[in-house]
Amino acid sequence: MDTILVINAGSSSLKFEVFAVADTLARQIKGKMEGIGTAPRLSIRNVGGDQLAQEDYPCELVADLPSAMRLVGQWLHGRIEGRLIAVGHRVVHGGPNHAGPVKVDDSLLRELEWYTPLAPLHQPNNLAPIKVLLERQPDLAQVACFDTAFHRGHDPMADHYAIPTRYFEEGVRRYGFHGLSYEYVAGRLAEVAPDVAGGRVIVAHLGSGASMCALREGRSVESTLGFTALDGLPMGTRCGQIDPGVLLYLLEQHGLSARQLQDLLYKESGLKGLSGISNDVRDLLDSEAAGATLALDHFVHRIGLNAGALAAALSGLDAFVFTAGIGENSPAMRERIARKLAWLGVSLDVERNNAGELLVSSDDSKVKVFVIPTDEELMIARHTFALIAAGGAEPAGTPQLYA
Ligand code: ADP
Repeated sequence: MDTILVINAGSSSLKFEVFAVADTLARQIKGKMEGIGTAPRLSIRNVGGDQLAQEDYPCELVADLPSAMRLVGQWLHGRIEGRLIAVGHRVVHGGPNHAGPVKVDDSLLRELEWYTPLAPLHQPNNLAPIKVLLERQPDLAQVACFDTAFHRGHDPMADHYAIPTRYFEEGVRRYGFHGLSYEYVAGRLAEVAPDVAGGRVIVAHLGSGASMCALREGRSVESTLGFTALDGLPMGTRCGQIDPGVLLYLLEQHGLSARQLQDLLYKESGLKGLSGISNDVRDLLDSEAAGATLALDHFVHRIGLNAGALAAALSGLDAFVFTAGIGENSPAMRERIARKLAWLGVSLDVERNNAGELLVSSDDSKVKVFVIPTDEELMIARHTFALIAAGGAEPAGTPQLYA
């Protein structure tokens, strides 16, 4: 049996999944190391949901991503049944040239390192496991799957900033992110609601990172995210859209360094900064503090404004899809957002929404509203398998991951 390993390395977590390659891709193992550098915990389950491992580690033992990879690799070693044919990685930034997944080599790695300043919280972590594997197992096929790729079909006009065009040529442009999630959701929508999937759809990926994407005939035509993963909606700790004049003010009047500004915008802003309480919507929903109310009201308000802009890009709206942590799990937030979108023709069915059904709009809603759980890892596994199958990459033989 052939298998594919999917790695999604974030700032404080390392998620991984193993898929068996059969007639379809079958998920076998799903695990994550969370709290890297703070309170490391490894948990691994099989496809039936049985716990295969659950272990807390001392902070010093899993201080960073490479040490997390080593431990995960040791656990996987000998447990991956069959032949590991490839590793698929989530890479947040693929730049302007990649509209699809790419097989990794040294020169691609160097190219992707160039985009680190554009996604400082994500890109170095995404690239770290690729680098380790390239060094230790150069014959193992690796595939980089980009969060930007799905948006590469935009009209270039939409991806410009209104600054001199020489900066666009240099790469200062709108890229859009969460593309693996949008691609997966667009595919699922085509399966479950083919009547609307070919029309005008907004997908709201509302997790700790949050954005929305306008789909026409299943393709991305606009995104709320731009040059970096800071734009658009306010997120757990990221600011979302902000007047650049605010940044000039902070630089000039508060004497903030570029690094301090980066930390402020990426780590101290969004729901956390506004509420002064938490970046987690569950905490804010449970709180009666004024900051919690402000943060959630602002979040819903900005989603409403951005949905209006995306609906304008589509010249109307046939369906709205909720996905990711908040979108999939919070009937209360879906209800609040749907009320904001009532003018567009959105009306929820209370019972369907509370039950988290696939279709949560009422029968008379002009816009159909869906809840579709995203599956970025499956998307990565599909891309990886398709590329390897098409390219005839050499299988690596026995897995010796990081061992
Ligand atoms: P990411 O993959 O970007 O880390 P997720 O898509 O897993 O994020 O979403 C995580 C966020 O989802 C949490 O920070 C929390 O705010 C929100 N969330 C998860 N479950 C719920 C819930 N039941 N109600 C409200 N919000 C939730």
